[in-house]
Amino acid sequence: MAASGDARAVVAWAKHRSARRPGGCWEWVGMVNRDGYPTTSKGAPYRFVYTATRGPIPTGDHVHHACGNRLCVSPAHLRLATARENIAEMLTRRAYDARLAEADAIYALVLALGDAVPPALRERVARASSV
Ligand SMILES: [Zn+2]
Repeated sequence: MAASGDARAVVAWAKHRSARRPGGCWEWVGMVNRDGYPTTSKGAPYRFVYTATRGPIPTGDHVHHACGNRLCVSPAHLRLATARENIAEMLTRRAYDARLAEADAIYALVLALGDAVPPALRERVARASSV
């Protein structure tokens, strides 16, 4: 881990521009890009923090938020991910989001149909949606 004055200054800057959150996240309070990631006119602050504390980011690799909070700039929550790992995680997350959206749609349909839905199916959907 780099311990130069520059590294400490970058970490102090990121800490100052963020709010402490449960789980140890440093949630960025500055500018955010259209994908919801922290940004500045010079680039992504979490990449600056990673570089300052761990070293250069290999070409093609990504700085991954291990906490799952894309606003986080805590050096303790950042790790490298290969492009392959990053894509795999993105696809997993999308598949999960798609299943949630499908479940929501089924639940809304069951609610809209009301008594037209057989009681057993209504109970099953109510049980599944309360998890
Ligand atoms: Zn975090």
